Amino acid sequence: MAIERTLSIIKPDATRRNLTGKINAKFEEAGLRIVAQKRIQLTKAQAGEFYKVHAERPFYDELCDFMASEPVVVQVLEGDGAIAKNREVMGATNPADAAPGTIRAEYAESVGENSVHGSDAPETAAVEIAYFFSGLELVG
Ligand code: UDP
Ligand code: MG
Repeated sequence: MAIERTLSIIKPDATRRNLTGKINAKFEEAGLRIVAQKRIQLTKAQAGEFYKVHAERPFYDELCDFMASEPVVVQVLEGDGAIAKNREVMGATNPADAAPGTIRAEYAESVGENSVHGSDAPETAAVEIAYFFSGLELVG
Protein backbone atom coordinates (compact mmCIF):
# COMPACT_ATOMS: atom_id res chain seq x y z
CA MET A 1 0.00 0.00 0.00
CA ALA A 2 1.17 3.51 -0.78
CA ILE A 3 1.27 6.36 1.71
CA GLU A 4 -1.86 8.42 1.08
CA ARG A 5 -3.53 11.51 2.49
CA THR A 6 -7.25 11.88 3.07
CA LEU A 7 -9.54 14.68 4.22
CA SER A 8 -11.40 14.09 7.47
CA ILE A 9 -14.02 16.27 9.16
CA ILE A 10 -15.18 15.91 12.74
CA LYS A 11 -18.77 17.07 12.34
CA PRO A 12 -20.82 19.42 14.55
CA ASP A 13 -22.62 16.65 16.46
CA ALA A 14 -19.21 15.43 17.67
CA THR A 15 -17.55 18.80 18.39
CA ARG A 16 -20.67 19.76 20.38
CA ARG A 17 -20.26 16.67 22.58
CA ASN A 18 -16.52 17.33 23.07
CA LEU A 19 -15.50 14.16 21.21
CA THR A 20 -12.57 15.55 19.17
CA GLY A 21 -9.94 13.85 21.32
CA LYS A 22 -11.72 10.49 21.46
CA ILE A 23 -12.16 10.48 17.68
CA ASN A 24 -8.54 11.51 17.09
CA ALA A 25 -7.43 8.65 19.34
CA LYS A 26 -9.26 6.21 17.03
CA PHE A 27 -7.35 7.58 14.03
CA GLU A 28 -3.99 7.43 15.78
CA GLU A 29 -4.61 3.92 17.14
CA ALA A 30 -5.26 2.82 13.55
CA GLY A 31 -1.89 4.22 12.45
CA LEU A 32 -3.25 7.34 10.79
CA ARG A 33 -1.20 10.50 11.42
CA ILE A 34 -2.98 13.85 11.79
CA VAL A 35 -0.69 15.97 9.61
CA ALA A 36 -2.94 19.05 9.53
CA GLN A 37 -5.89 20.11 11.65
CA LYS A 38 -7.99 23.20 12.33
CA ARG A 39 -11.30 24.05 13.97
CA ILE A 40 -13.51 26.27 11.82
CA GLN A 41 -17.16 27.26 11.45
CA LEU A 42 -18.48 26.76 7.92
CA THR A 43 -21.07 28.98 6.34
CA LYS A 44 -23.97 27.18 4.70
CA ALA A 45 -22.58 28.21 1.30
CA GLN A 46 -19.17 26.70 2.11
CA ALA A 47 -20.81 23.47 3.32
CA GLY A 48 -22.91 23.44 0.15
CA GLU A 49 -19.85 23.77 -2.06
CA PHE A 50 -18.06 20.99 -0.20
CA TYR A 51 -21.03 18.61 -0.53
CA LYS A 52 -22.15 19.74 -4.01
CA VAL A 53 -21.90 16.17 -5.35
CA HIS A 54 -25.01 15.52 -3.21
CA ALA A 55 -26.90 18.64 -4.38
CA GLU A 56 -29.74 16.64 -5.95
CA ARG A 57 -30.23 14.35 -2.95
CA PRO A 58 -33.22 14.92 -0.65
CA PHE A 59 -31.01 15.32 2.43
CA TYR A 60 -28.73 18.02 0.90
CA ASP A 61 -30.34 21.12 2.42
CA GLU A 62 -30.53 19.57 5.89
CA LEU A 63 -26.93 18.34 5.56
CA CYS A 64 -25.68 21.84 4.71
CA ASP A 65 -27.62 23.39 7.61
CA PHE A 66 -26.18 20.77 9.95
CA MET A 67 -22.58 21.22 8.77
CA ALA A 68 -22.87 25.00 9.30
CA SER A 69 -24.67 24.72 12.65
CA GLU A 70 -21.59 24.56 14.90
CA PRO A 71 -17.81 24.32 14.52
CA VAL A 72 -16.14 21.43 12.72
CA VAL A 73 -12.57 20.15 12.88
CA VAL A 74 -11.07 19.65 9.43
CA GLN A 75 -7.97 17.53 9.23
CA VAL A 76 -5.65 15.67 6.90
CA LEU A 77 -4.86 12.08 7.84
CA GLU A 78 -1.79 10.38 6.41
CA GLY A 79 -0.76 6.75 6.33
CA ASP A 80 -0.52 3.51 4.45
CA GLY A 81 -3.73 3.23 2.42
CA ALA A 82 -5.12 6.13 4.46
CA ILE A 83 -8.27 6.62 2.39
CA ALA A 84 -9.64 3.09 2.86
CA LYS A 85 -8.24 2.79 6.37
CA ASN A 86 -10.03 5.96 7.46
CA ARG A 87 -13.31 4.70 5.94
CA GLU A 88 -12.83 1.50 7.95
CA VAL A 89 -12.25 3.38 11.21
CA MET A 90 -15.26 5.63 10.48
CA GLY A 91 -17.73 2.77 9.87
CA ALA A 92 -20.81 2.74 7.62
CA THR A 93 -22.68 5.98 6.89
CA ASN A 94 -25.70 4.79 8.87
CA PRO A 95 -24.58 4.05 12.44
CA ALA A 96 -27.13 1.21 12.56
CA ASP A 97 -24.97 -0.58 9.97
CA ALA A 98 -21.57 0.44 11.38
CA ALA A 99 -19.29 -2.32 12.67
CA PRO A 100 -18.65 -2.43 16.43
CA GLY A 101 -15.72 -0.30 17.53
CA THR A 102 -15.98 2.13 14.62
CA ILE A 103 -16.40 5.86 15.24
CA ARG A 104 -19.92 5.91 13.85
CA ALA A 105 -20.99 2.83 15.82
CA GLU A 106 -19.78 4.43 19.03
CA TYR A 107 -20.60 8.10 18.51
CA ALA A 108 -22.93 8.85 15.57
CA GLU A 109 -26.40 10.07 16.48
CA SER A 110 -28.15 9.33 13.16
CA VAL A 111 -27.45 8.74 9.46
CA GLY A 112 -27.22 12.51 8.98
CA GLU A 113 -25.46 13.49 12.21
CA ASN A 114 -22.82 10.80 11.95
CA SER A 115 -19.80 12.46 13.58
CA VAL A 116 -17.22 12.21 10.78
CA HIS A 117 -16.59 12.74 7.07
CA GLY A 118 -13.86 10.94 5.12
CA SER A 119 -12.84 11.21 1.46
CA ASP A 120 -13.84 8.20 -0.64
CA ALA A 121 -11.14 8.06 -3.36
CA PRO A 122 -7.74 9.58 -4.26
CA GLU A 123 -9.30 12.14 -6.63
CA THR A 124 -11.85 13.37 -4.08
CA ALA A 125 -9.21 13.38 -1.33
CA ALA A 126 -7.00 15.71 -3.38
CA VAL A 127 -9.87 18.11 -4.13
CA GLU A 128 -11.19 18.05 -0.55
CA ILE A 129 -7.75 18.61 1.03
CA ALA A 130 -7.15 21.58 -1.28
CA TYR A 131 -10.57 23.01 -0.32
CA PHE A 132 -9.41 23.50 3.29
CA PHE A 133 -5.60 23.50 3.35
CA SER A 134 -2.72 25.11 1.47
CA GLY A 135 0.45 23.12 0.80
CA LEU A 136 2.24 25.14 3.50
CA GLU A 137 -0.19 23.83 6.13
CA LEU A 138 0.58 20.18 5.40
CA VAL A 139 3.49 19.05 7.52
CA GLY A 140 3.91 15.30 7.18
N1 UDP B 1 -26.52 11.66 4.60
C1 UDP B 1 -27.81 11.86 5.07
N2 UDP B 1 -28.80 10.97 4.72
C2 UDP B 1 -28.55 9.91 3.91
C3 UDP B 1 -27.24 9.73 3.40
C4 UDP B 1 -26.25 10.63 3.77
O1 UDP B 1 -28.05 12.81 5.81
O2 UDP B 1 -29.48 9.13 3.63
C5 UDP B 1 -25.46 12.59 4.98
C6 UDP B 1 -24.51 12.01 6.03
O3 UDP B 1 -24.09 13.05 6.91
C7 UDP B 1 -23.36 11.51 5.18
C8 UDP B 1 -23.28 12.61 4.12
O4 UDP B 1 -24.66 12.93 3.85
O5 UDP B 1 -22.18 11.35 5.93
C9 UDP B 1 -22.61 12.24 2.83
O6 UDP B 1 -23.18 11.05 2.34
P1 UDP B 1 -22.29 9.89 1.75
O7 UDP B 1 -23.21 8.93 1.07
O8 UDP B 1 -21.17 10.46 0.96
O9 UDP B 1 -21.75 9.14 3.07
P2 UDP B 1 -20.28 9.10 3.74
O10 UDP B 1 -19.29 9.13 2.62
O11 UDP B 1 -20.18 10.27 4.66
O12 UDP B 1 -20.26 7.79 4.49
MG1 MG C 1 -19.10 10.43 1.03
